[in-house]
Amino acid sequence: KKQQQKQQGGGKKGEARAITPKSEDFSRWYLDVVRECQLADYGPVRGTMVIRPYGYAIWEGVQSHLDRAFKETGHQNAYFPQLIPLSFLQKEADHVEGFAPELALVTKGGGKELEEPLVVRPTSETIVNHMFAQWVQSYRDLPLLINQWANVHRWEMRTRPFVRTLEFLWQEGHTAHATAQEAEEETIRMLRVYEDFAVNVAAMPVVAGRKSRIESFAGANCTYTIEAMMGDRRALQARRRAPWGRQEGARLAGTSHNLGDNFARAFGTRYLDEGGQLQYVHQSSWGVSTRMVGGIIMTHGDDAGLRLPPRLAPTQVVIVPILKKDVDGEAVMAAVQRLEAALRGAGVRVQVDASTDRTPGWKFNQYEMKGVPVRVEVGPRDVEQGTCVTARRDVAGKEGKQFGVPLEPAAFVQHVTALLEDIQAALLRQARDFRDANIVDVASYEELQAAVAEGKWARGPWAGSDEQERQVKEETSATLRCFPFDQPQHSGTCFLTGQPATEVAIFSKAY
Ligand code: AMP
Repeated sequence: KKQQQKQQGGGKKGEARAITPKSEDFSRWYLDVVRECQLADYGPVRGTMVIRPYGYAIWEGVQSHLDRAFKETGHQNAYFPQLIPLSFLQKEADHVEGFAPELALVTKGGGKELEEPLVVRPTSETIVNHMFAQWVQSYRDLPLLINQWANVHRWEMRTRPFVRTLEFLWQEGHTAHATAQEAEEETIRMLRVYEDFAVNVAAMPVVAGRKSRIESFAGANCTYTIEAMMGDRRALQARRRAPWGRQEGARLAGTSHNLGDNFARAFGTRYLDEGGQLQYVHQSSWGVSTRMVGGIIMTHGDDAGLRLPPRLAPTQVVIVPILKKDVDGEAVMAAVQRLEAALRGAGVRVQVDASTDRTPGWKFNQYEMKGVPVRVEVGPRDVEQGTCVTARRDVAGKEGKQFGVPLEPAAFVQHVTALLEDIQAALLRQARDFRDANIVDVASYEELQAAVAEGKWARGPWAGSDEQERQVKEETSATLRCFPFDQPQHSGTCFLTGQPATEVAIFSKAY
C-alpha cells in the first residue's frame, strides 16, 4: 500500500513522487530528497558529488551569511594554493600520519615524474603557516585574521552527498595571535559566530560546548563544537578536526580549535614582542563545510521533502497563477506581476511560475518538495475579489492556508514578510522541541545505555577517565559529544563512576 501511495505522490493528488517516508528509512529518505530536489548528483569518480544549482544556491546562502559575519569580526579572505609539498605535511609527524590514509598525491606533472610528490590539500594549516612565518615579523603584524573559501580533498571510503564526500567545499579560518589568551578568545568568538548562524539563520538549535580530551584533536589545546540533532536524532557536529590527528568516529556541524603554538613551533612562526624578544604565535583554526547543507536537510525535512528556513531559502516565495482554459488570464497575470514587484521591492526572494505545461497541482507538489517556505496562489475569482491565497510550507494542508489575503501591495507584503518570520521561528521551535524531547538526563550507566539504544542523546554528570570514555564508546557506539557551555543543574555524581563530577556531558551516536 505504501508503495502505491508513494507512486501516487504520498497519497496526494499530482504526479508520482519518489521520496521514501522519513520514518520508514531515514537514510533512503535523505538520498531521495537529495536526488528529487535536484540538490546534487554523483560524480563519475566514486565519492565525488556534483552540486546542482538548487543545492549550490543553499550553499551560497550559508556562504553569504558566514562571510559577512567573518568580515564583521575583522577577518579577510585570501587564497592559498591547492597543491602542497608533501614535506610540509611531514613537518608535523602526527599531521601526516593522521591524514596519510586520506591523501591524494600528485606524482606526475607535464608528463614527467615530479621530484617531490604534491598533496592535494586536505586542509591548509601547513601552507598557511609556511606563509605566516614569512608575513609575521613583529607584534604589530598581529593579530593575523585570515579566512579561505576553498575545496579540499580527503579520500573517504564511506560517502554520502553533502555529509561526507571525497571533495568538499568549506571555509577554513586561520588566525595568529600574540598571546594564548587572545587565541582562546578568538576560538570561542568564532564558535559563537557558527552558533549564531546555525540558530538564527539555519534554525538549527545547536548545543555549543567543549570537546573531551580524546575527542579534541591531538595537539590542539582545546576544541569547541556546535552539535546539532538530526531528524534521526544523531548528532551532527560542525567542528574542525585536529589538523594533525584523524578523529575517530563520525562528526557533523562546526568546530573551532585553539591550536596553541604547536604549528608555530613546527613552522617557526614567530614575532618580536615589544621587549624585542622572539615569541611563537598562538593560533586558532575553524571550519564549516558543505556538510552544513546536509544538516539543514536532515534537521527540517519531512515526508514531503525539504523544508528550508526562510532566511536561507534560495526562493522564499513562489507565486503560482491559476490560469483556467477559456478564461482570459490577463487580469491574473497583471495581479501576479504587481505582487512579484512588490515583494522584490521589499527584498524578498520571489519566483513566479507561470508555465503552462504543468498543472497548478503539480507545481504545488514540486515547490512543497523543494521546501519553498511560502506559496501564493492567484486565480481569476481571487482577482475579482481583490484577494489571493497563501500557503505555508511548515504547516500541512488546509491549516497552512490563508484565504482572502489582500492584493493591495503594502498589505500583501506585510502579510508575507510576517509569515516568513513566523515560519523561521516555527522551524527553530519545532527543531528545539524535538531535540529537547530526545535528550534524556541519566544518573546511571544503565540509563545511558537505555537512552542510547533508543537513539536519544544522554546527558549526565561525567568524571570518567579517557579510558572509561573509550569504553562507553565501544560498548554503546555513543561518543561524548561535548560538555555544554550551558550546564544544567545536576547531582554532582558521575553516572558511571559515582565519583564527584563538576560537569555534565552529552553522549550520542553521530554521523
Ligand atoms: P575537520 O577538519 O575534520 O574538523 O572538518 C572541518 C569541517 O569539515 C567540519 O565542519 C566537518 O563537519 C567538515 N567535514 C569533514 N570531513 C568532511 C567530508 N568528508 N565531507 C564534508 N564535510 C566534511
